[in-house]
Amino acid sequence: MSLDVPLVITVAPTGAEVTREQNPNVPYSAGEIAAQAVAACEAGATVVHLHARRPDGTPTGDPSVFAEIVERIRERVDAVIMFSTGGAAWMDDEERLAPLTAGPDLASLTPGTVNFSEDVLLNPLATVVRYVERIREAGARPEIEIFDTGMIPTTLRLVERGVLEPPLAFNLVCGVPGGMPGTPEAIAYARSLLPADAAVCVTGIGRSHPVVTMMGVAAGLNVRVGFEDNVFLRKGVPARSNADFVARVRGWAESIGRPLATVEQTAALLGVQKPVTSKGVEAR
Ligand code: ZN
Repeated sequence: MSLDVPLVITVAPTGAEVTREQNPNVPYSAGEIAAQAVAACEAGATVVHLHARRPDGTPTGDPSVFAEIVERIRERVDAVIMFSTGGAAWMDDEERLAPLTAGPDLASLTPGTVNFSEDVLLNPLATVVRYVERIREAGARPEIEIFDTGMIPTTLRLVERGVLEPPLAFNLVCGVPGGMPGTPEAIAYARSLLPADAAVCVTGIGRSHPVVTMMGVAAGLNVRVGFEDNVFLRKGVPARSNADFVARVRGWAESIGRPLATVEQTAALLGVQKPVTSKGVEAR
């Protein structure tokens, strides 16, 4: 029964696109990003999906900034740490891959090309294969970010070729202008293409955020929330922090009796082999 499945909440505290003009509470500096990530984990998140910024808000692939954020998070809470390899639309491959040297547990992997509003997130197949290799070399596991349903058969072909190894962790990212919409029909169709043993998270970008998130909680899926995806709690109500989104999801889960995943359960579900609790951090 899907409501017995522990819910993994991922927080994506800042992304590469949103600005303080859209919501003054969006974190920019390493300290601000880490503080909001910690508060989100204390509210119930167990995965932190990171992008990094310069203090003026410009996205950066500088591994030292990623390392500082991770260190500040791990001082305070246990969490599974995921780095974006999507970076920002204008970054080249090396800048998108550079953070991996800072040693994340998970790294996002986009197995195809998608229009991203006016930009293009460009991922030819040879590039995807190279990203998989670099993620493996960094000792991390991929989370496969599906922006459109055609990326799912592409992923399964990479499994057949031995490039990717199951069990797979997917994130269905819905509502990007250029990708699949954040509707029940789109999510149901995407799920029908996925392997039965895959871990599945849903993310609703922008206006689709509350509906996609609520659907994920009710359908026994995992969810991602945070300023990267949406800056409003509801129309006209800006979130005060990333923890606001996590607390809301936690309330939804509690209201229907769905438990939240522990950090250990999260790591096992997403195929993370490294220790993720503080005991494990000492052993790193
Ligand atoms: Zn991201």
